[in-house]
Amino acid sequence: MVTDTNAEQVLAGEASSSHLKRQRLSSLVEEEAEGGENVGEVTGDEVTTTEVRSGMLLDLDLLDCPVCCHALTNPIFQCDNGHIACSACCINMRNKCPSCTLPIGIHRCRIMERVVEAIMVPCPNAKRGCTDKFSYGKELAHEKECSFALCYCPASDCNYAGLCKDLYRHYHANHTGYCESFTCGFNADAWMHISDKILVLQEGRGGPLVAVQCFEEEHGVYVTVNCIASCAPGVSEFSYQLSYSHGDKSMSFGLGEMNRIQKVSFQTPEKDFMLVPHYFLNGRESLKMKICIRRRGEEQEKKT
Ligand SMILES: [Zn+2]
Ligand SMILES: [Zn+2]
Ligand SMILES: [Zn+2]
Ligand SMILES: [Zn+2]
Repeated sequence: MVTDTNAEQVLAGEASSSHLKRQRLSSLVEEEAEGGENVGEVTGDEVTTTEVRSGMLLDLDLLDCPVCCHALTNPIFQCDNGHIACSACCINMRNKCPSCTLPIGIHRCRIMERVVEAIMVPCPNAKRGCTDKFSYGKELAHEKECSFALCYCPASDCNYAGLCKDLYRHYHANHTGYCESFTCGFNADAWMHISDKILVLQEGRGGPLVAVQCFEEEHGVYVTVNCIASCAPGVSEFSYQLSYSHGDKSMSFGLGEMNRIQKVSFQTPEKDFMLVPHYFLNGRESLKMKICIRRRGEEQEKKT
């Protein structure tokens, strides 16, 4: 029986696609069975995974869940008619196959699981130097903490983007006039006009960049502090303490782990901000704050 559902197409696709496609699938699966080391670097006149990723030889959409269209990851389930769905969709559909309503969510589709695991794709930052490869779908999780992530210059009139260490050098060379510096473990002034919206602090000469931003809203001014860096472990891991005082009133906010962003956003934050209420500002147009930034793990040494 033939239906016109996506799930049917997935399975029909495996059986009836071109000879070349089938060869490609089987060679990748066999490679994995032999140890998986060279999956993707197939021999002879075969091509590298970069080309597989481009879809020249294999339609990568076949590896997406036909229900939610996200990359299929194990476990993958099938109904008695052979329709497949990811585990999240099985739960959402209360274990009723969206194509034929038969139960789904008990029997795994082992061959599809093997195919998905055997397809190796490069990190989306491969062209910037990341050599990591992942089975299909897992590269997206890695991308969030890849040390080759692109970071964008926070200067308003500048379009520079690069690896974070290159961005720090670029900023020091091109925008130092607009920048305050900070030293880890010491209080620094963070003075800004509310209308400026952003104050960039740089550690030493050409070190990490920290963006202090303020957002004027109905109830007051929201202040955020973010480090511009990739989220790779061990890169620019800071904590901070921010304070604002006027007269005998003071308020402070801090995070044990400063958020890292690749690009500044001018959207009002939903979390991790200090809110300075309007009555507290009393019409003043600038915020004279103090900030103490510490490198995580060095808190004890720096205090002495
Ligand atoms: Zn799904
Ligand atoms: Zn079904
Ligand atoms: Zn990467
Ligand atoms: Zn710039």
